[in-house]
Amino acid sequence: MSVSDIDLIRAWKQVLTLSKLEAGQTVTVLTGADTNAQTLRCATAAASDLGARVNRLELPPVNAEKALSRDALAYLGTTPLTGNQAAIAALKASDLVLDLMTLLFSPEQHEILKTGTKILLAVEPPEILCRIVPTEADRERVLRATDRIRQAREMVISSEGGTELRCPLGEFPAIAEYGFVDEPGRWDHWPSGFALTWPNEGGTQGRIVLDRGAILLPMKCYVSEPIEIVIRDGYARSITGGLHAELLSEYMASFDDPEAYAMSHIGWGLQPRAHWSTLAQYNREATIGMDARAFEGNFLFSLGPNNEAGGTRTTACHIDIPMRHCTVKLDGEATVINGVVQDPEGRARAAAPRGLA
Ligand code: FE
Repeated sequence: MSVSDIDLIRAWKQVLTLSKLEAGQTVTVLTGADTNAQTLRCATAAASDLGARVNRLELPPVNAEKALSRDALAYLGTTPLTGNQAAIAALKASDLVLDLMTLLFSPEQHEILKTGTKILLAVEPPEILCRIVPTEADRERVLRATDRIRQAREMVISSEGGTELRCPLGEFPAIAEYGFVDEPGRWDHWPSGFALTWPNEGGTQGRIVLDRGAILLPMKCYVSEPIEIVIRDGYARSITGGLHAELLSEYMASFDDPEAYAMSHIGWGLQPRAHWSTLAQYNREATIGMDARAFEGNFLFSLGPNNEAGGTRTTACHIDIPMRHCTVKLDGEATVINGVVQDPEGRARAAAPRGLA
């Protein structure tokens, strides 16, 4: 269903206000071949109405011939900023960059953030942006979760389906994604709402059993028969199961890169306005799957790079897998039990079930 310009402009104004955009600041809107025209129009109108000077920088697409799908998160590698000094200079000189093209992580992006420029990614379709407009309460909740991750030395994930995974922590930062950029040098993604970190290099041990309903990204499919992934010394060593296991294995093998199998980010979803079932409603090319990544109480893990957390691994393959009904413990203390977030908001929601009378 379409949204009106006025609703999307209002949503942008909330995001830009939470991002502390001030009159006189410079906003650069990054656009590419797939930028949504309404999102661009409304972002420009909202930033202008708040008194910002708004530029637009159109960058050419890259990597399409190497990626195996049209999903912008499917292939990580060089970006349109690689070696593009003029573009880098323009972004460094901006107070806020609105990334409507999916720039993705790169040394150039780190370099830009280091100068204090904020970057906000927003590429989901307008109706998803309008449904998951971030709030100050989202931020507080995600920050409470990252505080707990920061203090922990181990994350243990289990599920009735047979998942038993131990991830030692401490080498990498805890990262909060709550959908706006209120600090200088901050990167975030609207919509989001989750807390994450990376396990210590080479330290993750155990097995993950993806039960029916786990979501494979970027394939954007719901697993229909269990997949077992054995993790030893920080790498997936086997992927077995039915058809979906074969699809995942063959896709990953096509990158011909052992680093594709490394454990990447781990964390849990905290966004009640994101839904597990949303992906079933959408054409695969119409969304990048942020509902799946953010829905409240998921355990989201990734296989692939760690350079966005300051590590050195830069594999082009990037798999994100949100799971339902997991229990997540930090140093023995549960933060999620069977998919229910163990904070006041999560417990209150679990006590008031939705649906049938
Ligand atoms: Fe990821």
